Amino acid sequence: MKRTATHIGVHWVFILLVLGVAWAFPAPSATAASRPSTLLSKADREFSNLKRHQSLQRKRHNYENVERRYRRVFEGHSGTREAAKALFSCGELYTLLHRWNSLRADLDQSREYYRRLLRDYPGSSLADDAQFAIANLYLTYYGDPVQAYREYERVREINPRGDMVADAKVWLRKLRRYRSAATAPSSKSRSSSAVSSSSTASAFLQRAEREFSGLKKSSKLQRYRHNYMKVLDRYRRVFEKHPDASEAATALLRAGELYTLLYRWTSSRPDINSAKHYYQRLIKDYPGSSLAGDAQIAIAYLYLTQYKDPSRAYQEFQKVAWVSPEGGRKGEAAAQLRKLARYKPAPPEKASAASSPVPAVLSRVTGIRHWSNPRYTRVVIDLDGPSNFYSNLLKESSAQMKPPRLYIDLFNSLVGSRLRSAIPVNDGILLSIRAGQFTPDTVRVVLDIDQLDSYNIFPMENPFRIVIDATGGAGKGPGRVAASPSRTPLKTPDRYSLAQQLGLGIRKVVIDAGHGAHDPGAVGVGNLKEKDVVLDIALRLRDVLRRDGLEVVLTRDRDVYLGLAERTAIANRSHGDLFLSLHANSSRKPNLRGVETYFLNLASSQRAMETAALENSMAVAKMSDLEDIVQEIFNSKMDESSRLAGIIQDNMIRQLRRNYRDVKDLGVKQAPFYVLIGAQMPSILAEVAFINHPVEGKRLASPVYRQHLAEALAAGIQSYIHTVKMASAGH
Ligand SMILES: [Zn+2]
Repeated sequence: MKRTATHIGVHWVFILLVLGVAWAFPAPSATAASRPSTLLSKADREFSNLKRHQSLQRKRHNYENVERRYRRVFEGHSGTREAAKALFSCGELYTLLHRWNSLRADLDQSREYYRRLLRDYPGSSLADDAQFAIANLYLTYYGDPVQAYREYERVREINPRGDMVADAKVWLRKLRRYRSAATAPSSKSRSSSAVSSSSTASAFLQRAEREFSGLKKSSKLQRYRHNYMKVLDRYRRVFEKHPDASEAATALLRAGELYTLLYRWTSSRPDINSAKHYYQRLIKDYPGSSLAGDAQIAIAYLYLTQYKDPSRAYQEFQKVAWVSPEGGRKGEAAAQLRKLARYKPAPPEKASAASSPVPAVLSRVTGIRHWSNPRYTRVVIDLDGPSNFYSNLLKESSAQMKPPRLYIDLFNSLVGSRLRSAIPVNDGILLSIRAGQFTPDTVRVVLDIDQLDSYNIFPMENPFRIVIDATGGAGKGPGRVAASPSRTPLKTPDRYSLAQQLGLGIRKVVIDAGHGAHDPGAVGVGNLKEKDVVLDIALRLRDVLRRDGLEVVLTRDRDVYLGLAERTAIANRSHGDLFLSLHANSSRKPNLRGVETYFLNLASSQRAMETAALENSMAVAKMSDLEDIVQEIFNSKMDESSRLAGIIQDNMIRQLRRNYRDVKDLGVKQAPFYVLIGAQMPSILAEVAFINHPVEGKRLASPVYRQHLAEALAAGIQSYIHTVKMASAGH
């Protein structure tokens, strides 16, 4: 960070602007005109401000401020035209709030405001609008089409010549199959629940389809990720809550289409992978569905146009005929196969009948590595080529005096005698690892288990390897820190984040050493410069992560200057899965010390604002449009980033305290750091210590401390990846 007074000054203007939009509402003025029209237009202005700014919409008190304004109208001036308008707006206000927080109470409050308008102002020109709004609430948010039908019918009763009658008729026509249920006498609860249980999936699907087609029509909506996520949630409700309904397959197909559309805007690899994931899930879970062929052909097109892999596309088009022999997409697939004929794979040596790409040559196991992380043990089997594998967990055998074991059979593989002796592990989870040639072309790797809770096996490519993560053994083993169960983020499936649910793989970590060249960052004890310290830590972190099998990209590996925007651009260009910006802190208060981790958001505290102002000072002129910044923040992967920040901070503190008991935990914070803006992957900024603190400054100068820091950061990254992997394996 840089401590130039002018920069700080300029930066404060920016920060105050952000805060101005976020939180500062003008205090009620004692001299404000108390005419209802003045009060109403003031309230309307604030409401439209709220509607425009998603950052405001995330805080309940902003809604309550607007409500308070309207209340002054309908309570202070009841009986006026303005009072009816204020009630209507409050109905809208609470619908908006409900869209954010999904709280039933707020939905009910919305309906209550509309009902109150109908009750108190039955002759108002807004009465039929309120009735129509209530019907919409039942259809869209309560998920009760039967009641919605009844409410739409009332629109005409309230005002037969009103302008809402035509719209209500459209809905009555669409909902006509609920008519008999809606009009059945005196059995409201019974009939509505019977109908809704048999038709919920289709009602959910209809609603999702409606929202998706709205999204497809509006390129404005398409610019924001959360609009896609809202639609995805709708579809997910269908295929997760009603997996047996015929609508589930349609919902999966649409989820794939949704991500394909999103990818056109983001060009972000995980999005296209998500599209593929949903198509594959459809094919796997609904093999008999007529849509399986559509999903398969969609996958083929993804390979052709997005992954730009025509050979693979060829293979995927071939599968269309197998996946859906009766389906209508066979002709289209055949046409594509003709076009792509030159990408037809060469026939294998031994013409084995079917699908699995069996390597003609045997793969050779070139190494077996393992290391113990605080919460799990990772074993990596290196091969010189791909191999299919099978794993199985065997219980303890007292007869044979054998501990429980996990074995992995690698087909079409060989292992040399060098790797056939047992490798001792003894870390509380595993006792040892053994490998042997089980059959002439199968290698068996056996993990002897000490105490295992769960495990996860997955292949990685370039180079091909098989990774086994085993968790368990809490509290056992010398180097292992007992995992406190309350902090374990994995409890129940519904607490998995989206990235976890989708099993987005994390392979490439982008490390950004802050500052560089003419921007020294903070300068501390003995002229120690932030730019040099963080570069050294970044290089060490790179080595640790590479040793652990991850790909690493550095934004800079020497003393050069990079703009803040360039840093995230490098991360996006290299398709990094995580972005980590490293900094050392500094404060005017010389006794301030400790470790803190930030993710991108509006500032959470005064000091977070100061830190952001200092780190941002080189780039103030670059981003002047406040709206853009706020929306970029909103578009960022905030949930994943805050989760990542939590895990990194946790690990840094825990690991550092083994050697430095006085390390202070300043916690996870949020602030608008430019260097994180625009990152397409979960991204955080770590302030690893205060460079101008007498003790911490001295430590930062020491290579030993820097190595400890690098290892602590790596452990944090591994734990984060682990939570994602574990969830994707369905544990
Ligand atoms: Zn810095």
